[in-house]
Amino acid sequence: MTRVFNFSAGPSMLPEWVLKKASAEMLEYGSSGQSVMEMSHRSCDFMTIIQTCEQRLRRVMNIPDNYKVLFLQGGASLQFSMIPMNLLVKGKADVINTGLWSKKAMKELKKLGTCNLIASSEEAGFSYIPKTTKDQFDPEADYVYICENNTIYGTKYHQLPDTGAVPLVADLSSCILSEPIDVTQYGLIFAGAQKNMGPAGLTVVIIREDLIGKADEKTPSMLDYKTYADNDSMFNTPPTYAIYICGLVLQWLEEEIGGLDQMKTINEKKAALLYETLDQSKLFKAPVAKEDRSMMNITFVTGDAELDKKFVKEAEAAGLVNLKGHRSVGGMRASIYNAMPIEGVEKLTAFMRQFESENL
Ligand code: PMP
Repeated sequence: MTRVFNFSAGPSMLPEWVLKKASAEMLEYGSSGQSVMEMSHRSCDFMTIIQTCEQRLRRVMNIPDNYKVLFLQGGASLQFSMIPMNLLVKGKADVINTGLWSKKAMKELKKLGTCNLIASSEEAGFSYIPKTTKDQFDPEADYVYICENNTIYGTKYHQLPDTGAVPLVADLSSCILSEPIDVTQYGLIFAGAQKNMGPAGLTVVIIREDLIGKADEKTPSMLDYKTYADNDSMFNTPPTYAIYICGLVLQWLEEEIGGLDQMKTINEKKAALLYETLDQSKLFKAPVAKEDRSMMNITFVTGDAELDKKFVKEAEAAGLVNLKGHRSVGGMRASIYNAMPIEGVEKLTAFMRQFESENL
């Protein structure tokens, strides 16, 4: 068996420790006589799995007691609709446009209320994070929306906007669990699991309690955060296997890595290795503003589309797969989430240097 280094933006690599444990438990979980996939979601074994998963997430992310953790489905994309459905009371929200995923959120918000565009980096191909000041935000807005890590372009907020008393709502799909964060800075955090948390099919929402229960009474139960909060995410059948794997990823983070401080150190080391290679290169360029660089998604180009294609193809043959940039921007993108071992980045940077020597 040869496992490749998979630089996909998501679904993406899972820690080998997690895959091996899941594999060992595939036919029989504990002494249950069954696989987690076959278990009733109301069984004691599964109740322990979901509760342990939530407790681990609370410990790892240091989530305060006045925040609920909700396990949902529908991908991060369903949150683009659920957020305005649940949080709009006065009917308006402020948004910063940092790319495709914030634009998709704006599109859904506009169907339900007023979307005030506060700042945008669209004119520069979303290559930076617009800086904002508190006085730009409407103190009467129901929330301020941002996409904290922009998977497609490789930008990341290193300082959150100061929104005053207005709750900050943030899409952390591609940076959750990559470093410690202060949850109290947010009203709502959401993330599709398929990058840093587990497999596709699970979406995690972390929401301050006072923001729950504001949805219009016509809101379908399955789209109301209150339904999930009141039923411990068990109103209907949750994505049981994805929650189980997410629990294993969190166990790996806690017990094998040692928590988010250690994870951040490892992620910084991996990202520094790749950015140093890019900064020293005469062939490759990193298009993103230095102060807004993401640790998780690193984009680069040669400036020649044909050469980019050649790079992606030859990298794949060398066991470095999924380096093609998002179809809307082209070039290359290396997604180096938590589960990407440093060896993968070392192999990629060595390959880049070799490619440069052969193609410059
Ligand atoms: N937000 C961000 C930042 C993403 O990267 C993605 C997917 N790559 C999404 C939202 C959409 O996620 P999903 O496919 O789970 O709806």
